[in-house]
Amino acid sequence: MNELFSYCGCLDHLTPGAAAQLADRSTEGDAAVRETTAAIIRRVRTEGDGALLELAVELDGLTLRRLSVPRELRVRALASLDASVRDSLEHAAANIESVHRAFLPRASELEVQPGVFVGRRPDPLDSVGVYAPGGRAAYPSSVLMGAVPARVAGVPRVILCSPPGPNGVPSDIVLAAAELAGVGEVYAIGGAGAIAAMAYGTSSIAPVRRIVGPGNAYVAEAKLQLSGITGIDSPAGPSELLVIADESASSESIAREVLAQAEHDPRAAVVVIAHSQRAAMEIGRTLQALLATEPRRAIIAESLATRGALLWSESLERAIAFSNEYAPEHLLLALRDPDVALEGIRNAGTVFLGDTSSVAFGDYMTGANHVLPTGGLARSYSGLSTIDFVRWTTYQRVSAAAASDLAPGVATLAEAEGLPAHAAAARRAGQGTDTRARERTERFAPRERATLRSLSLYEPNRAPCAIDLSDNTNRWGAPPAAERMLRNVEGERITRYPSVYTPELKRALAEYAGVRGEEIAVGCGSDDVLDSAIRAFAEPGDALAFPDPTFGMLPLWARMNGLVAAPVPTPDPHAIDIDALLAVRARVTYICSPNNPTGLALSRSDIQRLIQNAAGIVILDEAYAEFASGGWLAEAPSHPRLIVTRTMSKAFGLAGLRIGYAAGSASTITQIEKARGPYMVSGLAERVAIEALRNDLEWVRTHIAAAKESRTRFKAELDAAGIPSLSSDANFVLVPVADASAVAMHMRTAGVAVRPFPRLCGIGDGVRITVAPWQTMETALQALRSAVRS
Ligand code: PMP
Repeated sequence: MNELFSYCGCLDHLTPGAAAQLADRSTEGDAAVRETTAAIIRRVRTEGDGALLELAVELDGLTLRRLSVPRELRVRALASLDASVRDSLEHAAANIESVHRAFLPRASELEVQPGVFVGRRPDPLDSVGVYAPGGRAAYPSSVLMGAVPARVAGVPRVILCSPPGPNGVPSDIVLAAAELAGVGEVYAIGGAGAIAAMAYGTSSIAPVRRIVGPGNAYVAEAKLQLSGITGIDSPAGPSELLVIADESASSESIAREVLAQAEHDPRAAVVVIAHSQRAAMEIGRTLQALLATEPRRAIIAESLATRGALLWSESLERAIAFSNEYAPEHLLLALRDPDVALEGIRNAGTVFLGDTSSVAFGDYMTGANHVLPTGGLARSYSGLSTIDFVRWTTYQRVSAAAASDLAPGVATLAEAEGLPAHAAAARRAGQGTDTRARERTERFAPRERATLRSLSLYEPNRAPCAIDLSDNTNRWGAPPAAERMLRNVEGERITRYPSVYTPELKRALAEYAGVRGEEIAVGCGSDDVLDSAIRAFAEPGDALAFPDPTFGMLPLWARMNGLVAAPVPTPDPHAIDIDALLAVRARVTYICSPNNPTGLALSRSDIQRLIQNAAGIVILDEAYAEFASGGWLAEAPSHPRLIVTRTMSKAFGLAGLRIGYAAGSASTITQIEKARGPYMVSGLAERVAIEALRNDLEWVRTHIAAAKESRTRFKAELDAAGIPSLSSDANFVLVPVADASAVAMHMRTAGVAVRPFPRLCGIGDGVRITVAPWQTMETALQALRSAVRS
C-alpha cells in the first residue's frame, strides 16, 4: 500500500461511505469570513473610494495616493518583461483568442410555425471586471483567461482589480498581462473590497455587469454575497485532477501530473485510477521517488495525505462511472484509446486525451479556458467561456395571419388563468387588418441565412463580345477527340442517371495525375470541388484564410458556408506572406498557384512551409498549373493536410463541360464527396472528359505551348509599348491601369472583353487579359493601348 495517499485501494471494493468521503470536497463556510466580508461590502457601498483607501491601510499597511494604475505603468511593465516570458504570454494569449473566437455563441432564428418567428442574438455585456490575486499567488495566466475571452466576446469595457504590492501598484507581471490582454482600466485594490467596488461602483470605478477571476476566501465570499447585484463566475476552489490510466501510460508521466496539480494548494484533490494494483503501486513508488526533490513537496505531501487517492480497477467502465460521480475539474485519460472513453465521460471540467496531453498545457497554452468548476460543481457548471460574457436578446415576430391563428388558443389559456385583458389583447391582435390586405402584406418572405444577407449574387459581366479574353478559357478551340465524342454519345448517357461518383473518369484523371483513382474527387467544375472541400473541413464560424488578392470566389464561399473570411493582404504581388497566413490558424487555408489574378506561381519552399505548419487543411488551387512548371498534384495524397485542385476548364479547353477535380489522401477525398453529395457530374461530361484524357493530350500539350509563346510575346510587346504588366505563369496577363472599369469598357467598345479588377491589394486597379492566338492578341494590344492612352 502507499502511505502518501489518504486512501489507497481497489476501486471495485470501495465502500459507498469511502467513495462519498473521497468525492466530498466541499469547503466549510466560515462564519468569521462571512461577517468580515459583509462588513467590508457595507463600508465600500456607503463610503466608496474612502473605504477602499482605509482598507488598504488597515489590511495591507499601505497608504495609497490613488486607486487607478496609469496606463504608462502598465505599458512599461509589459516593455520591461523578460523576453521569453513575454513570448510565452503572447503565445498563450493568441491561442486563448483563437479558441474563444472559434466557440463564440451565434445568433439564430426559427420560424416556429408559419408567420411566427423567434430569434435570439448574443449581445456582449457592456462591462466586465477581472480579479487577479496578488503577492505569491499572482497568476498572469488567469488574467489572460478572464480578460481575453471577454474582449473576444465584444465586451467594450474590461477592467482589472488586483491588490497593490509595497510600491502601491499590482505586480509587474499582472500589469503586463493586463496590457497584453487589452484591459482598459486597472485598479490597485484587493480582496472583498475590490469585488464590492466592481459590483456597486465608487466615484472612481464605474460598476461592471460580471466579475470573474480567482481569489482568496474573502474574494470568493464577496462574490457569493454580491451575486444578486452583478453576475459572477462559478466559485473556484482548490485544484483537482482525476487520472484514469491503462497499460499504455508511463508511470513517470502520471506521477508528474499528480505532482503538478498537488503543488497548487495543500487542499488540492488528486485521484489516480490505474488498471491494475501493480501499475498503481508502480505509480506510487515513482511518485515517492520524485517527491523528494520537489521544491513544493510540503504542499504536495499535505494535499495527497488529505485528499489524494490511489485506486485501481480492471474495469474502465467502473473507472468512468467513478469519474462521472466525482466530477473532477481536470480529467486525464491516459489511455490507449482515450476518444472511446471520452464518449462516456460526463461532469468533468475539461478532459485531457492521452498522456502527452499534460494538464499543464491546458493550464497555460492550448487556448482552452483554465477557469473551471471545482468541488463537484462540474456536475452542473461549465468552464469559463465567451457565453459568460454575453446575454441573449430574444425577439418574436407574429404576422397578422399567424396572429389570427394564435389568438383563440392564447385567449383560452389567458381566460383559464383568470387574465381577461390578456385574452382581449390577443383577440385584438388577431383581428388585425382585413383579410385581403393581410394576405398581401403578411406573407413574409422566408428569411435567408444571416451570412447571406450581406452577400450579393456573383454576376460577372458575361455579355457577348467579338473577342472574349475575360475568363481564361482556352482560345484555341475544342479538343478534337472530345468534340467527336460529344456528337456520338449513346442515348443511354442522357436517359439514365450518371455514375454516382464518376469512377471511370477518376481512373483516367488518376493516370494523368500520377495518383490512384480513390485519391481523386471529381466535381461540377473545380468551383464545386473547392466549395465542397471547404465545407468538408470547416464548421460555420471557422476562419477561411486566403491571400489577398486571389480568386474572387473565396470570400463568397466563406459566407455561403457560414465561415469567416480571413483575407491576408499581399502588399508585394510577387510573394505571399506565409507567416501572416499561418498566424490566422484557420481551419482552411487556400492558396492559388499560379495565382489568379496576378499570374504568379508560388515557390515550392513557401508551399512546403505552409503545408507543414498550417493549423487545418491547405487547399492548393492549381487551375492554371499546366501553364507553369511543376505542381503538387502527384504528391497531394502523401500530405494528409493537403488538397490540390485542378480543372479541365483551362488547358483542356472544356470549360463548358464543368469538370474539376481534387487530389488528396483517400480519406480526404471521401470527406469531400460526403460534403458534396452524389451525381454532381453529368454523364455526358464524364464520357467526353474521359475521351479527352485518352486521345487529346497531344492537342492539349501543343496549345499549352502556343499559349506560353503568346504570353511571352504579349508581355514583350507591352514592355515595348511602355505598358508595365506582371510576369505570369498562367494563361493570362495582369496589366495594372489607373481605372480598370474605364479601360475594360473602352476595350469592350473596341470588341475585346477583358476582366477589370478595381483596387487590388498591393497593385491598385488592373485588367486581366486571357492569352489567345497571336492575331487575337494583336487586336487586344491595340485596344489596350488606345484604352490606356484615352
Ligand atoms: N480556381 C481558379 C483560380 C479559377 O480562376 C477558376 C475559374 N476561373 C476556378 C478555380 C474554377 O474553375 P472551374 O470551376 O471551371 O473548374
